[in-house]
Amino acid sequence: HSFPTRRSSDLRPTFPARNQWSGDIQGTPRVNANAARQAARLPATDWLAPMLPQATPPQAQPHRVAVQARTTAGGAGLANADALRARMVQQLQRSGISDVRVLSALQAVPRHCFVDGALLDQAYKDTSLPIGLQQTISKPGVVARMVELLLACPAMQAQPVDARLGRVLEIGTGCGYQASVLGQVATEVYSIERLRGLHEKARSNLRPFRIANVHLILGDGMLGYPLGAPYAGIIAAAGGHAIPQAWIDQLAVGGRIVAPLVSGQGQVLVALDKTPQGLHQSVLEPVLFVPLKSGMA
Ligand code: SAH
Repeated sequence: HSFPTRRSSDLRPTFPARNQWSGDIQGTPRVNANAARQAARLPATDWLAPMLPQATPPQAQPHRVAVQARTTAGGAGLANADALRARMVQQLQRSGISDVRVLSALQAVPRHCFVDGALLDQAYKDTSLPIGLQQTISKPGVVARMVELLLACPAMQAQPVDARLGRVLEIGTGCGYQASVLGQVATEVYSIERLRGLHEKARSNLRPFRIANVHLILGDGMLGYPLGAPYAGIIAAAGGHAIPQAWIDQLAVGGRIVAPLVSGQGQVLVALDKTPQGLHQSVLEPVLFVPLKSGMA
């Protein structure tokens, strides 16, 4: 059985068409054929270019305008969202996030479209925010850290620095923000949520962007999601007392689980690698996530 990874160079020729965040109000991707050809030729080292305002090619400008128009019309308007997001990404970079795939993904996904109107002005602060049903959207810094860890799994270490991860399972969709970030760095994302209200909220948050590679599932993530297995990576947005055996069974050899685990009075972040020699667990920094619960509601 082969490990589910694809090089992003395989995907690059279709990149602009897949950059769903450039869609207009109707969600129709506005793809400039010249920009598509240009992007298809970008060498790996130019990957950072879209993040740097001064390096943005002129072809990209209509895309930015389109995103602005959509978010304003959708009632989730935030006048200076692009600039605020760029500043957030710079801060993440300063705080130690160095994987360009992660930084680009956080630059691409408009976090303000995933938070409630009253919290819009906080969308680009490094803070978790309520999303209803006593759950929260994770801090951007924690999303970046966990996705960076996921991309550093054993199987990716021999891959080019711009390679895409294969299939990923996310436990705890919440509002769908992290699932969307994962959609930028993985070939396919399966994201499962146990609360119907939030599953539906994530569905409506994602709908306008028409993201073909992010699949939202209503169910108990403690059981994993066997239909997408084996996974190159599994990421949990809720903390339990142990890593469920189902996740380990559904992880590919060479893959990694990144999850918060209850430890003493708090939680710690854990990275669990599945290698041909067996499981290898690293205990990382303290974190604070909502609890992992079983069953659906
Ligand atoms: N990924 C979100 C964070 C959501 S908070 C983001 O982008 O910010 C964590 C979510 O995990 C909550 O919505 C909670 O309902 C969900 N959750 C907890 N236990 C779960 C389980 N067993 N299966 C699926 N989802 C679960």
